[in-house]
Amino acid sequence: MPELPQMQALAERIEAWVGGTTFEGYVPLGFSGLKTAVPSPDELVGRTLTGVGRRAKYVILEFDGEPERRVVFHLSQAGRVDFEQPPKKTKPKGSVVRWLFADDKAMLVREFGTERKAGWWVLGPGDDGPLATLGPEVTSEEFAQWLRTSDDGRRVHTILRDQHTVAGVGRGYADDALHRAKLSPYASLKSLDAAERERLLGAIVAVLDEGLERERGRSGGLSENKLGEHFTVHGRAGTPCPVCGDELKRVSYESHEVAYCPRCQTGGKVLADRRLSRLVK
Ligand SMILES: [Zn+2]
Repeated sequence: MPELPQMQALAERIEAWVGGTTFEGYVPLGFSGLKTAVPSPDELVGRTLTGVGRRAKYVILEFDGEPERRVVFHLSQAGRVDFEQPPKKTKPKGSVVRWLFADDKAMLVREFGTERKAGWWVLGPGDDGPLATLGPEVTSEEFAQWLRTSDDGRRVHTILRDQHTVAGVGRGYADDALHRAKLSPYASLKSLDAAERERLLGAIVAVLDEGLERERGRSGGLSENKLGEHFTVHGRAGTPCPVCGDELKRVSYESHEVAYCPRCQTGGKVLADRRLSRLVK
């Protein structure tokens, strides 16, 4: 799933690709992609893309002209973006929308799999749309202060993935940050002492920084089906831990799999698969 590093680097590439050019139109390719009815995307036609930003896992396209118009899009688990020059006329499976820009350029938003959760919003002045309920950015001082002082009883893994608490991290970097911090995926925030919290903060920043550095080496859009081959532990259960060499394990948790190293993170303890044990009962 694209997380902060993928989306930040994608925003930077979009700015370099079509920043300063004119929006010429759009071709809706999916039924559920456009999440707003008003303002109409037609109002964007003829406007210049003046800036591209990111908030959480959303990319924000800013256009000139009055009244203010922004486009926000989200790729969910398996959404991707293709850069096209010249624009294609194809409609690949899972297509959401094709945005057309001057200079014969286009961006196609499409989605692998069957979830159909990728989407885009056209926002007017004062409307933050899906951004309104997001927590602070994961790399912000606001979140750091919260993490140092909160007695939130939820698991850190759950907290990191809850975009209303903290924005930008998903399963992949949550797995890697906990491994880097040598903390159990089942650790609750409340149970962590001050030193562990600082270690966690440092680990989060480090894995995201490294992820962003790597993502900035990518070119074009964000087309590949598999994006996560570079994770340290996420998706790598069954392979050796890069720190200690023991085999990484997986545990099913809240309908997805968490990868971790027992020796590095849980004092050697193999975590119980709760979904499985419920079935066995
Ligand atoms: Zn290890």
